[in-house]
This record gives sequence, C-alpha cells and structure tokens, in this order.
Amino acid sequence: MVINKSLKLENVRYDIRGPISDEADRLEKEGISIIRLNTGNPAAFGFEAPVSVLNALTESSGSSAQYSSSKGLANVREAIARYSSSMGIPNVEADDVYTGNGVSELIQVAMQAFLNPGDEILIPTPDYPLWTAATILAGGTAVHYICDEEQDWYPDIDDIKKKITSNTRAIVVISPNNPTGTVYPKELLGSIAELAREHKLVLFSDEIYDRLIMDGGEHVSISSLAPDLLTVVFNGLSKSHQICGYRAGWMVLAGDKSGAGGYIEGINVLVSMRLCSNVTGQSVICAALEDTQSVKANISPGGRLYEQREYAYNALINIPGISAVKPRGTLYIFPKIDTEMYGITNCEKFVLDFLREKHVLLTHGRSYNWMKPDHFRVAYLPEMDELVEVISRLSDFLATYQQSS
Ligand code: PLP
Repeated sequence: MVINKSLKLENVRYDIRGPISDEADRLEKEGISIIRLNTGNPAAFGFEAPVSVLNALTESSGSSAQYSSSKGLANVREAIARYSSSMGIPNVEADDVYTGNGVSELIQVAMQAFLNPGDEILIPTPDYPLWTAATILAGGTAVHYICDEEQDWYPDIDDIKKKITSNTRAIVVISPNNPTGTVYPKELLGSIAELAREHKLVLFSDEIYDRLIMDGGEHVSISSLAPDLLTVVFNGLSKSHQICGYRAGWMVLAGDKSGAGGYIEGINVLVSMRLCSNVTGQSVICAALEDTQSVKANISPGGRLYEQREYAYNALINIPGISAVKPRGTLYIFPKIDTEMYGITNCEKFVLDFLREKHVLLTHGRSYNWMKPDHFRVAYLPEMDELVEVISRLSDFLATYQQSS
C-alpha cells in the first residue's frame, strides 16, 4: 500500500532540518562526529540556562502537572503583558497574550486562523522559513520581498510596494533578523508601518531576538509605530535565555483590535484544540523576564556571543571569495560566496559537499527562500576552539573546491 503525504504539504519545506540534516544523521550513525550548526540551539554548545530560570523550574516542579488555560497561566500572561508594554508594544493586556510551545507553534496558529486560499502575505527573502512554510500550509501564498545585502540587508521598501496587490493581507517583519542578523532602524520600520496603514494590512512581527542585539543597537517593535493597526508580535525564551528545549514562547495581539473579533475567535479555537502550551515551560517565564542581566553578559564585549560573533565575522571574510554584512544581533551570520570563483551553481550541493568532506553541517541560502545559490548561514554558537576549527575546515575545503554538477 502506498501512503503519500497530504497534498497540502506539496510545497511546504523546512530545509534547516531537511535532507542535508538527514545526511548528517546518516554520517553520525556511521560513527562520524559532525559539528551541527544548522539550528540556533545555544544549549547544545554549552550555553547554560540562567540560574533565575533554573530556580523557577525547581520551585514550580510540583505545580506544572496540570493543564493551564489554553492561553496560558494568568500570572505568566500578566508578566508578558508588562514586558510587552515596557518594549513599547501598545494596547496589550493579559487577555491579549497567548503562550505557545515555542514561537513556532504560534506562527502556525496565527497563519491557520488568518488565511484563506488566494490570500497573499509579504514575507522577507531571506526569511526564517517557518513563515513561508506556515503560510503555504495554511492555504495562503507567500510573496517574498527583497532584503538588500548592499543596504545592510534592510527590506527594500520599493520592492514591498511593487508586490502589494488586492490580495495582500499582511506583512511579516523579522527584526532582529534570522538569517542576516540585521536590526531594523525605526525609520525603516516606520515606512513599513505606513505601507500597512495605506493598504489596510495586518503586521506580523517576529521579535524573538529582541534581547540579542550588540554594539549598543536598540530594538524597536514595529507595533510601537502602528498603534492604529493590528500587529501580532511573537517572542520567547529559546534564544535570549538559551532554553530552546523548554518550548517557551508567546504571541501578543497589539494595537487596534476593534475589527479583529473573528480572527481572535479563530485563534481561540486553535489554541483550545491543543489544550495548552507546556506548563513547565510557562513556569519559568516570569523569572526569565525579570532577569535581564544574564542575557546582557553574553552580548557585551568579553561575553561569549559577542566574542564569537567578532571571530566568526572576521575569520569568514578573510577566506577568499567570502564576504558578509556584519550581524548586529541574533546568533547567525549569512555570508555570500563568490559562485564564479568556486563554480557554485547549487548551494545545497556546496553545503552537502562540505558536510561529507569536513563533517560540519551548515545551512544553504535556499533554506531561507533566497533564490540565488550564493549564500549560506553559520550559527556562531560553538566555543571559540571549535569555532576556529569550523572556519579552518571551511577555509581548507574552499582552497581546492570546484563544484562539479
Ligand atoms: N522565529 C525566528 C526568527 C527564529 O529564528 C526561530 C527559531 O530559530 C523561531 C521563530 C522559533 O523559535 P521557538 O519555536 O524556539 O520559539
């Protein structure tokens, strides 16, 4: 009997954990040790959960065996609402907050509740690919607007304008951005908000890296510039508190919700169907949001993430044929590779060849819906010794690499 995947999964891709990651699994089964840099998973590289989080976990261990309400524990939602207000996110009360099993679950809820066939959503390219995948799975059409590498990877406002049609329903903004590490300035966010205003669009703002900004940069939530629009803001503890495995994320409905009753009803049905998010994960959120210090230590000069970013950027751009925009936040760098110099026509093959020869798993630009074969992403998470080893393996590999078809 042949059992196929459902037709709705036809064009759904999530290559960060796709076929090349499967190949890494296969090599590991053969006894080969692989350095896996495909996901932004800080704990896998020795980043520890802050003491504040561990204490909260111990204290709550007896009480997290029950289901919570579908939106999440009341005190947790209140803490998230306070945090959101402190970040300038307008008009958020506890009732506007939904906890989720990571932001990942909530992106899917938000898209499933929102989209009808034929609806278009503007999503950046390169993007964090779950946005594209969730849009397609929900029956919508992902229309990619260009982020311009020549302009520090900022969204190209003219390109967004060109791509707005009568079917466009929303714009997705990811700042700080995965995979580019770019932090969007206020004026640029203001221009995007203005377009949303003009064309009556909803804004979806993924702010999961809002606390991972270096070099004195500042996070601005686009919602703070659009209190007259509906903005759905996503955030969580996976990256800032290095606890991806706790699956602690949230989504808040901000700004003007006056016309959104139907949408909210849809969201409520979907979160009820999954009963509630992981209560153990929820139970550390209050303590984590109060602890801003442990996050800052990592991203300041002398801190692990800061120093690893410095090293990764400088070492990568020293390899012939590699250039990069210096990331100002997140855990990633998205270098460009000179495709002519290395005969590269297929970035998946480049990443696969590197994995097979040097046993390091990177991700290719196409995973991020970047259509040219000239980019790849490095998560600069390993301890310095291992990071030096990764870049030296890449440099050795490229010294002789010519892609064959
Ligand atoms: N949004 C962005 C931009 C991400 O990079 C990630 C994970 O890498 C997520 C959302 C999902 O995070 P989580 O489901 O762990 O909260």
